[in-house]
Amino acid sequence: MKFADLHLHTQFSDGTFTPEELVLRAQKAGLACIALTDHDSVEGCERAATACAAVQMDFIAGSELTAEHKDTEVHILGYFLDIKNKVLLDRIAEFQSVRQNRIHEMVVALNKLGIPLKVEAVFALANCKSPGRPHVARAMVKEKLINNLDEAFEKYLKKGKPAWVPKTKMSALEAVELIHQAGGLAVMAHPGLNRTDDIIPDLVKAGLDGIECFHTKHSTVMSERYLEIAEKYNLLVTGGSDCHGFSKKAPLIGTVKLPYDHVERLFSARKKRK
Ligand code: AMP
Ligand code: ZN
Ligand code: FE
Ligand code: FE
Repeated sequence: MKFADLHLHTQFSDGTFTPEELVLRAQKAGLACIALTDHDSVEGCERAATACAAVQMDFIAGSELTAEHKDTEVHILGYFLDIKNKVLLDRIAEFQSVRQNRIHEMVVALNKLGIPLKVEAVFALANCKSPGRPHVARAMVKEKLINNLDEAFEKYLKKGKPAWVPKTKMSALEAVELIHQAGGLAVMAHPGLNRTDDIIPDLVKAGLDGIECFHTKHSTVMSERYLEIAEKYNLLVTGGSDCHGFSKKAPLIGTVKLPYDHVERLFSARKKRK
């Protein structure tokens, strides 16, 4: 049996692996296909594609776009993106600058709370164009300003906590359109995480192609529920571990295994779109 993991992050956003390390791990996990889905970035895709080609692993160039619909945050995965598409790259660059400004704002908020974190420490640790809260949390741990990542989120960075800063996001409808114009398929990420089921019909109307039924944080019941929704709206089915590399536990890559018939449907849908 062949399997895929279609939700993975690298150092080009908030993961800890390089693209090459990710592919090596994928190979060790026995995966036949991976997709790279860094937050608001496609920068790691070229290197991941090269590394996959070297070991005859199928590769899908992707990204996880942070979006919103009716005040609800929703992550939209783009698969089979043309990573040289100018409209996509320009829009991604804008959201990367939103992310960088937000780091400054979060650090100012932390400083006001008496935590002497330096913004340079966060940027040095992140070392990428798409920094986010995990980098702030990691920098706090590294500088011994907090005991662990969980505490950083629970005390300061989670929505509603004192150093949380809202993020300007693109609308989910724009995300779907942006992905389509870059030749990609648009897939709703981890719908079970944010309880966003009520927005699914709107996204389908906007041209959503698929839904991530299998995810680390989906229970079996949840996955079954989204498989039914996929069938109801004629959506493609995807799945992935959402591996961010090293954290508290062993890396998640390969722990969510998408059966290959779903992967083949994705490849055929992409051909039809071309
Ligand atoms: P951001 O893009 O800056 O809003 O950060 C979102 C990322 O932070 C997610 O993709 C997760 O990887 C991570 N994250 C969110 N909430 C938590 C949490 N409570 N503990 C650890 N990591 C979290
Ligand atoms: Zn992340
Ligand atoms: Fe996400
Ligand atoms: Fe993710």
